[in-house]
Amino acid sequence: MKYVDEFRDQQLARQLAAAIAAEVDPKREYRLMEFCGGHTHAIFRYGVQQLMPPNLRFVHGPGCPVCVLPMARLDQAMAMTHEHGVTLCTYGDLMRVPASGRQTLLKAKAAGADVRMIYSTQDVLRIARDEPERQVVFMAIGFETTTPPTAVAILQARAEGLKNLSFLCNHVLTPPALRAILALAGPEGVRLDGILGPSHVSTVIGTQPYAFVPREFGLPVVIAGFEPLDVMQSALMLVRQINDGRREVENQYSRAVGEGGNTRALELMARVFVTRPSFEWRGLGFLPESALALAEDYADLDAERRFPVRVEASHEIKGCECPAILRGLKEPTECKLFGTVCTPDNPMGACMVSSEGACAAYWSHRTHMPSSGLNR
Ligand code: SF4
Repeated sequence: MKYVDEFRDQQLARQLAAAIAAEVDPKREYRLMEFCGGHTHAIFRYGVQQLMPPNLRFVHGPGCPVCVLPMARLDQAMAMTHEHGVTLCTYGDLMRVPASGRQTLLKAKAAGADVRMIYSTQDVLRIARDEPERQVVFMAIGFETTTPPTAVAILQARAEGLKNLSFLCNHVLTPPALRAILALAGPEGVRLDGILGPSHVSTVIGTQPYAFVPREFGLPVVIAGFEPLDVMQSALMLVRQINDGRREVENQYSRAVGEGGNTRALELMARVFVTRPSFEWRGLGFLPESALALAEDYADLDAERRFPVRVEASHEIKGCECPAILRGLKEPTECKLFGTVCTPDNPMGACMVSSEGACAAYWSHRTHMPSSGLNR
């Protein structure tokens, strides 16, 4: 498949691995954070870490949209079903994410709540049209990648005059989270030498929003594609920047990402959403201006206003290390629950639910052989 097979070529992977091994300085470590869960998945699936020299480590970041959603937002959604009897629609990964008291949307559905798994925002619109007697709430989650489709659905709901559809917006923003992690780095936090910038998010926001990373934190950034050779080439670009003492934003994923991003998508987002003053992230706490809410012009479609509920402060399951893992401070195998109490069939924390979560990626590819996923 074009743009896929050539980025999984085993021979090229060996050449890139040899180039990285030849260029790393054996006297120093290279700790490169992949912000995006898609990269974490690719690194494990294709054994990219095993192809790296021992002094180059990938540090997993918080870029899994399901993993960073705090329990309180799930509690809020479930309270809407209980207290207001709404039909709650959301993406499949979210169904098994633990909320307070080890509750999940799946368990709420089994207990009688009308919770439905959807594949796209068009499904939500269809449900609202087909069942005008139901109040339908779309629980929207994700980074800048999934935000434009939600904006389109909001505009479509308005254009069609759908009175029984509203939106529980949980869309979050990448640059503030990256800033928070880098602000925590150092003696108290994770030590980093470079950042692999996200792929899909950057197709929307472009490369420019990462300029603060070299400027304020003195770290290089390479926007990286999702395929294994993308990740390896990006690692080589970071190694070269670090060795040269350069601190820049470079773009390895130029086949999809431009400097200014997708202007049409950005315009849609700016039209429909405003930035929240503060929003809670699992593992990172409350971060200023890090998430979106519906703009005042669309307040009538805002589920938080239409179906107000009160939720208590939530606490992670005892022993779950998701908060430390999402900040790059620990690896999943350092969690005592990993693979014993906590597995993908019985997730205790959000990082074990989505395939983009670091714990699920470790679990799925724990017997991985370095060459097994690459084309020969
Ligand atoms: S293994 Fe499970 S309990 Fe441990 S950090 Fe990961 S998700 Fe949390």
